[in-house]
Amino acid sequence: MTTQPPNKKSDHQDPFQSSQEADWQNFRDHLTTTDKQGRRQWVYAKEPHGKWTQRRKWVSWLLIGIMFTGPFIRINGNPLLMMNIVERRFSLLGQLFWPQDMVIFAVAMLIFITGIIIFTTAFGRLWCGWTCPQTVMMEMVFRKLEYLIEGDAVQQRLLAAAPWTAGKFAKKAFKLGLFFALSFIIGNTLLAYIIGIDALLPIITDDPRQHVTGLTFMILFTLLFFANFARFREQACTYICPYGRLQSTMLDENTLVVAYDHKRGEQRGKLQRNEPLVKRIAGGHGDCIDCHQCVTVCPTGIDIRDGGQMECVHCTACIDACDTVMDKVGSPRGLIRYASLNSIEKGEAFQVTPRMKLYAVVLTGLILLFLTLVFTRSAVEAMFLRAPGSLFMTTPDGRIENLYTLKLVNKTMRALPVELKLEGGAGQLEVMGDKNLVVPPGKLIETSVLIKLEPTAVTGATTKLKVGVYSNGQRMQTVKTVFVGPRKEIQP
Ligand code: SF4
Ligand code: SF4
Repeated sequence: MTTQPPNKKSDHQDPFQSSQEADWQNFRDHLTTTDKQGRRQWVYAKEPHGKWTQRRKWVSWLLIGIMFTGPFIRINGNPLLMMNIVERRFSLLGQLFWPQDMVIFAVAMLIFITGIIIFTTAFGRLWCGWTCPQTVMMEMVFRKLEYLIEGDAVQQRLLAAAPWTAGKFAKKAFKLGLFFALSFIIGNTLLAYIIGIDALLPIITDDPRQHVTGLTFMILFTLLFFANFARFREQACTYICPYGRLQSTMLDENTLVVAYDHKRGEQRGKLQRNEPLVKRIAGGHGDCIDCHQCVTVCPTGIDIRDGGQMECVHCTACIDACDTVMDKVGSPRGLIRYASLNSIEKGEAFQVTPRMKLYAVVLTGLILLFLTLVFTRSAVEAMFLRAPGSLFMTTPDGRIENLYTLKLVNKTMRALPVELKLEGGAGQLEVMGDKNLVVPPGKLIETSVLIKLEPTAVTGATTKLKVGVYSNGQRMQTVKTVFVGPRKEIQP
């Protein structure tokens, strides 16, 4: 969504406009964090204070707690979340998933995408401002440490411009050292989510030579996070994150966003010393006193008064900054607030639009499908394949036999005994090797199975068969396969 640019200055261009006003004219043509030559302009964001920042702090600390304890949490013995791409094992809310559960994964991805679309359509980039790990860690951990070590935005700017002294070197080295240590912890946490905490601990404690790959990824993740939080920062949201780029396709005039009330704020103008509000309003001014406090706190360096922008992560810092200013000048709070374009322009309350209703129906259907698939899938998955290159054999007693390869996957974290039965056919099923099939927790085993059929049960070159997979007397799955036999002579 693009909110209406303020006060229509572009329609009445003033030849004496300030450079700031000129910037306002072309803000959609360039990024505020780059200069005309395309060089990076470092954002020195002032520390925000206020009710929204406080709320975000609580939410962030809760999320940080969950994020760092997540790898240690187990449900039914399985990790809360694990994405073990190497071993192709995944765990979500304690449920183990295998590549064989691809359909469930596809539905989960659809839920995720539909959820994001419906959520963004209704509440804008609430995810970015409140829950995205990038924003949470950047604004609530790394930037807070920066404020503690280097001071607020003005001190940071002065320090950056100051010559290199021992004091400056010490501050910078201490900050970067701390950032690196934190990046190492975050990198290890990410690794724990990928391979599981049980696989991560040996990488940390064993001889490094035994875990070269694990250590390589550990260092790679650490360097990546360090580069991101120490240097890249808001550029990750602007240049890399696809969600930020796609948001304009999802927002509409009813979406709740962090917005500047241009109807109330314009014409903006500096507040003169001791100027009474009544006189100011009579002079055609709005509530915006053009103090730029909303800009100085913005971690992406934009001016929210220019309307909705791709860079805005809806962090609410400008709401708090403006509310503080409004309190000081005696105007009502909320010049910048959570609002939809329609609520600002037409005074309409938040509405559930037909688009949102449609998405909600689709999302509900997908969630129901997902739950059905998860709760009806069997604990053991069997794949029954004819042994490659094998033909049928005829035994001395006249029976016909086929050799199969059986793969069994245990999707639980407990060992499962498995029994196989030939369903509804006159024949015999024999497991080769160890007859007692026990599948270890979360593992895949492979064995060979021989099926012998009476000639009368063989209907032709191929006969359809069903094999029941049982565990503890309970049928887990029925596998369909094909039995190859001699071609039947066609009767004249
Ligand atoms: S903080 Fe509020 S009053 Fe100050 S420039 Fe921003 S919108 Fe205007
Ligand atoms: S414009 Fe406001 S909400 Fe958007 S990123 Fe900047 S400070 Fe945060």
